[in-house]
Amino acid sequence: MFKKILIANRGEIACRVIKTAKRMGIQTVAVYSDADKGGMHVDMADEAVHIGGAAAADSYLRADRIIQACKDTGAEAVHPGFGFLSERAEFAEQLKAANIVFIGPNPHAIEAMGDKIESKKFAAKAEVNTVPGYMGIIKDSAEAVKISDEIGYPVMLKASAGGGGKGMRIAWNAKEASEGFAAASDEAKKSFGDDRVFIEKFITNPRHIEIQILGDNHGNVIHLNERECSIQRRNQKVLEEAPSPFLDAETRAKMGAQAIALAQAVDYDSAGTVEFIVDGEKNFYFLEMNTRLQVEHPVTEMITGVDLVEQMIRVAYGQKLTLSQDDIGINGWAMEARIYAEDPYRKFLPSIGRLVRCQPPKEETIGTVTIRNDTGIREGDEVSMFYDPMISKLIAHAPTRLEATDGLLDALDRFHLQGVGNNIPFLAAVCEEENYRTGNISTNYIAEHYPEGFGGSPLREEQAEMMMAAAVYAQDLLDRRARRVTGQILHKERQQTEWAVMINREPHSTLASYTDEGFEVRVQDQDKTLVLTDIRWRPGQALFHAQLNGHGFVITLKPELEGFTLRNRGTTARVTAMKPREAELYSKLPEKQGLDTAKFVICPMPGLVLDVDVTKGQEVKEGETIAIVEAMKMQNIIRAEHDGTVKAVNVKPGDAVAADDVLVEFA
Ligand code: ADP
Ligand code: ADP
Ligand code: MG
Repeated sequence: MFKKILIANRGEIACRVIKTAKRMGIQTVAVYSDADKGGMHVDMADEAVHIGGAAAADSYLRADRIIQACKDTGAEAVHPGFGFLSERAEFAEQLKAANIVFIGPNPHAIEAMGDKIESKKFAAKAEVNTVPGYMGIIKDSAEAVKISDEIGYPVMLKASAGGGGKGMRIAWNAKEASEGFAAASDEAKKSFGDDRVFIEKFITNPRHIEIQILGDNHGNVIHLNERECSIQRRNQKVLEEAPSPFLDAETRAKMGAQAIALAQAVDYDSAGTVEFIVDGEKNFYFLEMNTRLQVEHPVTEMITGVDLVEQMIRVAYGQKLTLSQDDIGINGWAMEARIYAEDPYRKFLPSIGRLVRCQPPKEETIGTVTIRNDTGIREGDEVSMFYDPMISKLIAHAPTRLEATDGLLDALDRFHLQGVGNNIPFLAAVCEEENYRTGNISTNYIAEHYPEGFGGSPLREEQAEMMMAAAVYAQDLLDRRARRVTGQILHKERQQTEWAVMINREPHSTLASYTDEGFEVRVQDQDKTLVLTDIRWRPGQALFHAQLNGHGFVITLKPELEGFTLRNRGTTARVTAMKPREAELYSKLPEKQGLDTAKFVICPMPGLVLDVDVTKGQEVKEGETIAIVEAMKMQNIIRAEHDGTVKAVNVKPGDAVAADDVLVEFA
């Protein structure tokens, strides 16, 4: 076996690969950029080599420096992770020339599958179902319209070099086909330096279901069943699971056989994924093949018990697969949530900054539920604008889909993050939603369920009760600490204290006391009594665990200048508990005025202004582009939210802007 390997990646996936290498007794070498000095993957590896500047083009994409690092450290092989150099056939060739093993498929397979249109032709030849469409490159808008008319609307225009959800447009009519062609080829040119576009039928309300395969270089290929990744925003996956709630054994076997056929057609000799799109009648069509480890590979590992990274390393070393198709079963259900530094309340725009607090749930098995947390970032680390904003992948495994979903929900409740916006409340909201829970999902799920974006789940009565009780308990404890009476004899503690509680500006009068039952909060205006027992919380802790009237719950509790911000599932609420006199004075304070957003266009995230599209005095209609701001490798178009006349433009191209900066003012 290899004695030493280098991991040409960073963050979560670099840490994931190092873990398996360690278990196999293989020494590891990390590489890092200026932005990743002291990064988690650097600390985990046995050795680390600095390879350049923060921008990926200056470091993680520098094949020459990575190869030099192998030579300097004596690493015999390179695992590329995903993204960066993982799907560059040229990198695999360069390694080969330098006598270093690429832990991935042969360069020919990468090349054959790297281009969407070429791989589609390959698939058709291997008798794999492909999406009906035109298997050629479109010259211009006129041809795009002609071919779209023939295919029949809706159609999808796709960049042949595309990836990461970029360079795709849906067209429902000739006008959109013409415009979509221009937009897709333009975006493809910018993102991939390659403007070739092709057209296929747009499958409405489909599911994204993919088959994990594994091959060696002795001609063996097996599949490890499917993953369903239909929950997507901007054609990018956020929640994945294995198996799929939609497939029956027969369809699974057919998809598996086609995936293997395609892999065999390119002598596939590593882990890879064949992506399919599946319609309501279980017709499935080849989308693309990813010739690398996939972000969502853990769910497959959880249901099959196979360590995919270990298998990749073994076959790269030349070993024969010791697993046969019959060894691969489906044990239980696994769900994965991608936790991103992004603001779910602002159209999932990326958010950057320091992770002031990062307390993930423990990786452990409680009862039948196992929690796994694949991450590459720790408390105090920075989510920078240079790389993918994924913080962690939280995975729950259990015997059934619903148990796994509830396990994931509970783990999301126990995940505390502070310092950057994050999508945990959104993920929790989806896990609680009925259609998701019954597996009634499609790639349209997010657009359908959150047409106006995500505004947080409504506060349910039992959540309001949990939050009120927790806030009163916490305030009461802080208050008594402040008065240094905690050491006083019990009968004093038994005294009732009056608390005026405000939950999301709704007032309640309460009486709190310690009784034989526990900590009791009597909500006088609602004539009900909340009893907290088994409380696990001390001042300074973010998670509040307790039982309310016998039911266990966890909420995150963040102290504010006044009161607390509390979160449970998809709901966040502000709660204050004050002495009645204090509350009375407080209610007389004028309310803080927020910015009148009708009059301002506000920058939703920190970034760099690339372009300003309006000038002073210009009349702007709703939806028109105001400016383009680049953040986290993405160009974000800031649009007018309503009609108006521009009174002032406060930024120009090249300006760095912070979140909430006013870009443009309306009259
Ligand atoms: P998956 O199906 O595993 O989510 P994606 O293709 O969406 O795969 O992306 C996997 C990873 O590779 C992500 O981190 C994404 O940001 C990155 N990635 C995908 N395509 C590109 C590309 N063309 N250039 C750079 N990074 C990419
Ligand atoms: P990428 O390389 O960006 O991952 P894919 O071709 O895998 O691109 O497509 C990404 C997503 O776009 C799919 O998961 C699916 O949601 C959607 N999609 C792609 N092709 C089609 C199609 N023909 N009809 C409907 N949706 C599609
Ligand atoms: Mg894809």
